[in-house]
Amino acid sequence: LHFDSVPMFEDDGSYRGMLFLLRDVTEIRKLEVMRSEFVANVSHELKTPIAAVKGFAETLLSGGVKDEETSRSFLQIIYDEGDRLNRLIGDILELSKIESRRVPLEYSPVHVHSLLGSIFEVLQSSAAKKFITMKLEIPEELFMEADEDRLRQIFMNLLSNAISYTLDGGRVKVTAESVAEISGEEEKVRFIISDTGIGIPKKDLPRIFERFYRVDKARSRSSGGTGLGLSIVKHLVELHHGTIRVESKVGEGTMFILDLPLLHNVE
Ligand code: ADP
Repeated sequence: LHFDSVPMFEDDGSYRGMLFLLRDVTEIRKLEVMRSEFVANVSHELKTPIAAVKGFAETLLSGGVKDEETSRSFLQIIYDEGDRLNRLIGDILELSKIESRRVPLEYSPVHVHSLLGSIFEVLQSSAAKKFITMKLEIPEELFMEADEDRLRQIFMNLLSNAISYTLDGGRVKVTAESVAEISGEEEKVRFIISDTGIGIPKKDLPRIFERFYRVDKARSRSSGGTGLGLSIVKHLVELHHGTIRVESKVGEGTMFILDLPLLHNVE
């Protein structure tokens, strides 16, 4: 509770009384704390690649590196860290846009099989590098109403994670089916994105949708992760009035269950 008091005076300057103000600031305070935590996290995340860029550039500039191979590998690090900064900033901007609800969804009929087919094509080469088999089980006739670009973003994030966190020779699968109306509930499409990957420890499961939360920082970094993918996914799913949950077993694999309304109800 926030407490304020102001003395009040008449026009002739004589004392009239006190004005007391009581305000419940718990919500505001909570938002402030979240905000400053986010800023602290962002600064920390940006500092690491910037330090690497500066450090390696300095070494090269000092002329201390004589052989070609070493200097090339330093330049590669500078390039990769620049790339990483770019991705981080892109994800941070995206998240802040979505969180402030500045993304009006553009609904259109989406042919689910074609959408996922085109996403699979994009991801095929990174899956092939790890000998990962990708499988799609979606009824050819399934259409749904959604923002196609946002839907693409959801699946790109979930599927690139599935590939990153699955060891060589594993499997990644997407299934979709429309779930018929049950007792007045609106009809929805259920997507299951599963992998035979490293899995997520039980204690981490409740936190993986949080911004910058990673089970294993080093692994996320080496796979090019920003730690923001799943929070972006969660927000986009909620904008579509859908839900997402996760089930996982360490060493066996992970499954994301995504429910989205089949049709867009205009209120
Ligand atoms: P990142 O950029 O680190 O992948 P995300 O927000 O996309 O960030 O995911 C958060 C964390 O959740 C990851 O760092 C990883 O630890 C875990 N994770 C996400 N997807 C999977 C998956 N399919 N299998 C195992 N762990 C996963």
